[in-house]
Amino acid sequence: MTETKLFLLPGDGIGPEIMAEVEAIIAFLNAKGLTNFVTDRGLVGGCAYDAHGAAISEADMQKALAADAVLFGAVGGPKWDSVPYEVRPEAGLLRLRKDLGLFANLRPAICYPALADASSLKADLVEGLDILIVRELTGGVYFGEPKEIVTLENGQKRAVDTQLYTTSEIERIARVAFDLARTRNSRVASAEKRNVMKSGVLWNQVVTRIGKDEFADVKLEHVLADNCAMQLVRRPKQYDVIVTDNLFGDILSDVAAMLTGSLGMLPSASLGAPDAATGKRKALYEPVHGSAPDIAGTGAANPIAMIASFGMALRYSFGLVDLATKLDQAIAGVLGKGLRTKDIAKAGEATITTKEMGAAILAEFKTLVG
Ligand code: NAD
Repeated sequence: MTETKLFLLPGDGIGPEIMAEVEAIIAFLNAKGLTNFVTDRGLVGGCAYDAHGAAISEADMQKALAADAVLFGAVGGPKWDSVPYEVRPEAGLLRLRKDLGLFANLRPAICYPALADASSLKADLVEGLDILIVRELTGGVYFGEPKEIVTLENGQKRAVDTQLYTTSEIERIARVAFDLARTRNSRVASAEKRNVMKSGVLWNQVVTRIGKDEFADVKLEHVLADNCAMQLVRRPKQYDVIVTDNLFGDILSDVAAMLTGSLGMLPSASLGAPDAATGKRKALYEPVHGSAPDIAGTGAANPIAMIASFGMALRYSFGLVDLATKLDQAIAGVLGKGLRTKDIAKAGEATITTKEMGAAILAEFKTLVG
């Protein structure tokens, strides 16, 4: 079996604790001969600053670039709140996103039946929810120039951000969304503001053309981004894949996240362009949450977001769809048995530790894999 290189960057706070649970799953898969992952570990965030004076060292950047996928824990914490801006913990993640060219951010919102009553919406609206938000990550209003605050002659200040998209930026994110829809229920909703924004008009045109020319088998609908926000809290299960720009994606993915309960449950993936020779995409997988310094070292961290992020790696980087599905089933199974870390437990309900949750998921996974 060909070797695949996984570069692990556990980071700070609860990062190493939740990554350890993924390492146990990797060890099982390798021992069983189902995968041949070769793992290496690096430092990112505050721990990298302490060791090298940078949020990620050049040597670790090279390893990330050479890897088939990067698994990232979380970075930051009060210890590093006053380090210089350029070397703050988050700079490590931004550098990885930039140098790996990660332009597509995938945020699934899955509501496990056992947790449906933890959602802020009524259980029947979210039970069985499984949507995927594909957010453009490297363009749009967060990066467009000019981006400035200028002082006018009359003493007033004027702040400018520029929403800017080119055809190719929209084409490549649309292709990611359509491709992913084909592995799911073959439906894409493109959320933009074509009624008031020129970038929305172009977005609409380009997504429509890519859909018609290259993905005629995938059903495409357009939805105004503000309406999409409303629909997500009204009838979220109507969606399969939502593709949207950087700004709207930032907001819509957080709305969708809260439909599913806790931050400790939310995985994500960021993908780059396919390599011209191999067709493989650079990829980084990470939980949505941060380093949770308030619970680091207490064994209270929920490892599910990290484990599900690894599940996304199995699915999207390695095409191991069956194993990815079984890992999701193992998570659902453990939740179905009533096992809860503190963040997803109801008041008075018994809780288990990070390690116990990791071990329970692995045990369930072993049974499913056989
Ligand atoms: P956070 O996501 O770390 O924590 C918010 C709350 O959710 C906390 O109460 C925390 O205990 C809880 N929580 C988060 N993940 C959990 C898990 N897996 N299990 C159980 N509970 C969990 O956000 P924050 O407190 O705003 O930030 C803490 C640090 O993390 C800051 O330094 C921040 O800059 C950094 N941060 C990093 C990332 C990242 O690495 N991608 C993202 C967000 C925040």
